[in-house]
Amino acid sequence: MSDQELTPLARLRRALDQRVAAGDRTIVLDQQLLSDDKPTTAVESPSLVPASQVGMAIPVEADFASLTEHNEAICNCLKCPLGKTRTKFVYGVGKPTARAMFIGEAPGADEDRLGEPFVGRAGQLLDKILAAMQLDRTQVYIANILKCRPPGNRDPLPEEMNECFPYLREQIRLIKPELLVGLGRIAGQALLQTKTPLGKLRGRWHEYEGIPLLVTYHPAALLRFPEYKKETWKDMQLVMARLGVSR
Ligand code: SF4
Repeated sequence: MSDQELTPLARLRRALDQRVAAGDRTIVLDQQLLSDDKPTTAVESPSLVPASQVGMAIPVEADFASLTEHNEAICNCLKCPLGKTRTKFVYGVGKPTARAMFIGEAPGADEDRLGEPFVGRAGQLLDKILAAMQLDRTQVYIANILKCRPPGNRDPLPEEMNECFPYLREQIRLIKPELLVGLGRIAGQALLQTKTPLGKLRGRWHEYEGIPLLVTYHPAALLRFPEYKKETWKDMQLVMARLGVSR
């Protein structure tokens, strides 16, 4: 979408994102950016420039009004090297007011091609799990820690997750889910900031910033190790009980 097609606020978000992608941590913008089409007179500084000098200071991790606005603002992100190798940015999919949010680690090849999370074989299995829970992907929200695919589906690097995690945090803030489900070791460990193995994380409730969090096997692991399905179903029954859903 060109700048001319965006609302003034969306243009501001995009400008902020471009600065963030360039590594800025503090940005000062001319207030005209909010109200007309003139090019930004953004001033870069390693420290906060007094607002009285050039305009108003805006924190780069500003709260967004909607998922759409957030997506528009960050979809060209280049904060880590994965921004240069992705085919499509994979923001997330589902109900903006979902009661449950399912979080994986990163897009795979199919997701990178289509721009939607969990659309490959693992995604099809996730759809089956949701169906068994009397749910579907229009009733929940599905996202990943990383919005761009690591080459060759390697594990996300800590620095990549550090750069990308604020985007997930903002998604969670906007959706306000009643509970979170971490899919797989990497998502669970990232959400809980722990190195505890998945076997010790799953099967019980944790908390992420006050929100109940359950960690279970990633659907891709279930494709490789079908014997984990039984334990996964036990985990999903905990989720169903918390949501008040019965089969
Ligand atoms: S993985 Fe996240 S931080 Fe890295 S470029 Fe993509 S959106 Fe930006």
